[in-house]
Amino acid sequence: MTEASKAPNHIGQFWTGRARNILGFRRVADLTIWPGFDLLLRVLLAQPFIASSIIKLSNLDQAMFLAANEYPVSWASPAVATILDVAVELGAGLLLSIGLFTRLAGALLAAMAMVIQTVYQPLDLNLHWAVLGVWFLLAGAGPISLDALIRRGLSGAALPFAQQFSSLFDWLKAWAAPAWMLFVRYWIGAMFFASGLTKIADWQSTLFLFEHEYQTPFLPVWFAAGSATVFELAMPVLLIGGLFTRLATLPLIVMTAVIQFTYLDHVDHLYWILLLGLILTWGPGRFSLDALAERWLQASLPLLFDREIWRNDTLPHVIVVGAGFGGVAAARALKNAPCRVTVIDRHNYHLFQPLLYHVATAALSPADIAAPIRELFRDQPNARVLMGRVTDVQRDENCVVLEDGCTLDYDHLVIATGARHSYFGNEAWEPFAPGLKKIEDATDIRRRILLDFERAENEEDADRRKALTTFAVVGGGPTGVELAGAIPELARHGMGGEFRNVSPETARVILVQSGDRLLPGFPESLSAATKRELEDLGVEVMTGARVTDIDEDGLSIGEKRIEVGTVVWAAGVIASAAGRWLDTERDKAGRVIVGADLTIEGAENIFVVGDTASSNAWNGNPVPGLAPAAKQGGAYAASVIAAKLSGKPVPGPFKYKHGGSLATIGRAAAVADFGWVKLSGAPAWWLWNVVHVLFLSSARSRFAVAMEWAWAYLTFRRSTRLITGK
Ligand SMILES: Cc1cc2nc3c(=O)[nH]c(=O)nc-3n(C[C@H](O)[C@H](O)[C@H](O)COP(=O)(O)OP(=O)(O)OC[C@H]3O[C@@H](n4cnc5c(N)ncnc54)[C@H](O)[C@@H]3O)c2cc1C
Repeated sequence: MTEASKAPNHIGQFWTGRARNILGFRRVADLTIWPGFDLLLRVLLAQPFIASSIIKLSNLDQAMFLAANEYPVSWASPAVATILDVAVELGAGLLLSIGLFTRLAGALLAAMAMVIQTVYQPLDLNLHWAVLGVWFLLAGAGPISLDALIRRGLSGAALPFAQQFSSLFDWLKAWAAPAWMLFVRYWIGAMFFASGLTKIADWQSTLFLFEHEYQTPFLPVWFAAGSATVFELAMPVLLIGGLFTRLATLPLIVMTAVIQFTYLDHVDHLYWILLLGLILTWGPGRFSLDALAERWLQASLPLLFDREIWRNDTLPHVIVVGAGFGGVAAARALKNAPCRVTVIDRHNYHLFQPLLYHVATAALSPADIAAPIRELFRDQPNARVLMGRVTDVQRDENCVVLEDGCTLDYDHLVIATGARHSYFGNEAWEPFAPGLKKIEDATDIRRRILLDFERAENEEDADRRKALTTFAVVGGGPTGVELAGAIPELARHGMGGEFRNVSPETARVILVQSGDRLLPGFPESLSAATKRELEDLGVEVMTGARVTDIDEDGLSIGEKRIEVGTVVWAAGVIASAAGRWLDTERDKAGRVIVGADLTIEGAENIFVVGDTASSNAWNGNPVPGLAPAAKQGGAYAASVIAAKLSGKPVPGPFKYKHGGSLATIGRAAAVADFGWVKLSGAPAWWLWNVVHVLFLSSARSRFAVAMEWAWAYLTFRRSTRLITGK
C-alpha cells in the first residue's frame, strides 16, 4: 500500500491521538505536579507541629505549666500530657515530612488538632490541620515518599496482617479518600459561596471595600467587585458538583492569593490556597461529574483510551534499526505521528557509550550506563521493540531481513546502527588490543586490566611484573584520553594497600597518538592542557608515534618495542555494515553518504542517521560522530516522516547545531570547548560530570551514577572491580 493511499484513512486516528494527548497531559500532571505538591503539603502541615515540639523541648517547665493550666486534659497528668504532646508533634511531623507511615502520622496530627480545638482554643486553623491530617490518613502519601518506596515490599512481607492492612489501605485510597475529597470540595465551596452571598447582600459596602481596601489597580472597581462575586458564586457550584473542577479552583486560588498578598496576610488564606491546590492537583475524585464524564467517554470513545489502536496493522509502519542515541531519538519523536514504530536492536539495552570507559576502569557497573530499551518505550503505545540483528535491507521489497531469516516490511526506514572500531587493515591486532564500543568490550578491558594486576602479584620475575603493570592506550582522541586518565586513578587510588608483591600505584600508562597532538578536534591550547594534565597524572604521552605491530606481549612503534600487559585500541572507527545492506555510496570510513534530508540516494523513505551517516550538515562541514549529532539526526528524520504521514509541509534540510565538545582527563581535570569559551581543569570537569549525569537515559541511572561518583570521589574506592567472563 502506498503512503498516499494510507494517510487520509488515518487522519481520524491522528486526531484521536491528539485528543489522547490532552488526556495524556493530565496524566503527566498527575505524575509530576501532584507528587511535588503532595510533598509540599506534607512538609507544610508537619512544619508547625515540629516547630511547636522544638519550642516545648527547649523550655519543658513552661510546656508543663501550660499543660497544667492552659489546656489540661482529664486523662493524663501535665507531665505525661507534655511528653505525649511533644512525642506526637515531633514524631508524626517528621514521619509526615519524609512520608513514612504517613497514614498514622496524618491520623495523629488530625487527633492532635482536634484536641487543641476542643480543649484549648477553637480556631479555623485547627480545622484545616484536621482536614489535611484526615486526608493523609485516607489517601496516604504520594510517590515522593518512603511509603511509596516500601509499599510493594511491605504488602507482600511475611508480617502479621500485612496483606490485610494493604487491602484496607487500597480501599481507603479508592473510596474513603474520594469521599473526603467530596467533603473538602463542599467545605471550601460553601465558604466561598457564603462570601459571595454576603457581597451581594450589601453591594454598597462591597464596592466601598474594593475601592478603599483591596488593591486592584488595573481594574475598575465595579468590574473587580463584580467578577470576584461572580467567581465566588459560580466556581463553588462547579466545585461542589465536581464539574470542570480543576479549572474552577484556578480563579479562587488567584483571588485568595491577591487578598493574602495585597490586603490581609492571614494564615487561613494560605490553607485555603493549599486545599484548593490539593483539589487542583489530585483532582475531584470519583464522586464528581468529571469522573462520570470520563467514564462515559471511556465507554463511548474507547479509541481515546485504547492503547491497542496503535497496534493497528493498517497504520504506516516505520522501522528504526538501532536503539542507540539516533534510533531512540527518532522513535521517540514519532510518538504522536500516525504510524506504528518498530525499534529493532541486537541488544535489549540502550547504551550510554560516553561512560563506557568508566566500566572499563571499574568505576561504574554496566547496569549504571545501560537501560532496557523496552523501558524507554513503555509509555509510547505506538512503538514496539524487537530484539534481533538486522543482516540486510531489501530496498526493492521495502523490507529488512533479520539474522533468523525473518523479514519485516516498512513504509519508512531509519537506520541508526552506529559504528565499530577500525584497525585500519590490521584486524589481526584485534585479539590483543580490544576496542571500546560495547558493554562486552568494557567488561573485557576491565577483566584484562584487573587480571594483569592479579598475575603480577603472582609473578616472581621483576621484568615480567613490570610489563604486566604497563598499560598502553592507542589513540589520542577523547576516548583514548579518558581511558589513559582513568587507568592511573584505578591503579593508584582504587587498589591501594591490597597487594603485597606488586605496587599498583607504580603502574605505567602510555598513551600513543599518531598525530602531533592529543584531541585533534579541540583547539591547540586545550590539547596542550590535556597533555599537561595527563602527564601530571603520570601518563606517558607519545605523540607522532605510529603503532606498527601489536601482539600478545606488547606493541611496537617502529623500532621501539614496549612490553605491556594490556593494550586498548581507541584509534579509529568504521561505520556499521548498513552501507553494504543499502548498496549505496559510502565514504572512506564506511559511512553512508546521505542527502540534505538524511535520506539515501534513490530512496526517499530510507533515512540514515548518527555514526552510520556521512552528512555535511554542520554549516557545510562533516557532522561529528557525537551523541548530540545522532540525537538531532534521529529527531530530524522523525519530523520528516511525521510531516509526510500527516500531509504537512516537510521541514527544510537537516542542520546540525553543535553545543560544544567535552573530554575528561581525570579527577578534577577535563577540557571543554564551546567556541566562545574554552575551559580546562576543575570547572570543565564539574561541567562534564553534570552533563553526563543529566544525559543518562533513566532516572535510576542518573541516581546510581551520581552516587557511585560521589562515593569514588570522596573515598577513592572503586567498588566494581569484578573479573568476569573468559
Ligand atoms: C567509548 C566512547 C565514548 C564516547 N564519548 C562520547 C562523548 O563523550 N560525547 C559524545 O557526544 N559522544 C561520545 N561518543 C560517541 C557517541 O557515543 C556516538 O556518536 C553515538 O553513540 C552515535 O549514536 P548512534 O545512534 O549513531 O549509534 P549507537 O549509539 O552506537 O547505537 C547503535 C545501535 O545500533 C545497534 N545495532 C548495530 N548493528 C545492529 C544490527 N545489525 N542490528 C540491530 N541493531 C544493531 C547497536 O546495538 C546499538 O544499540 C563516544 C563513543 C564511544 C564508543
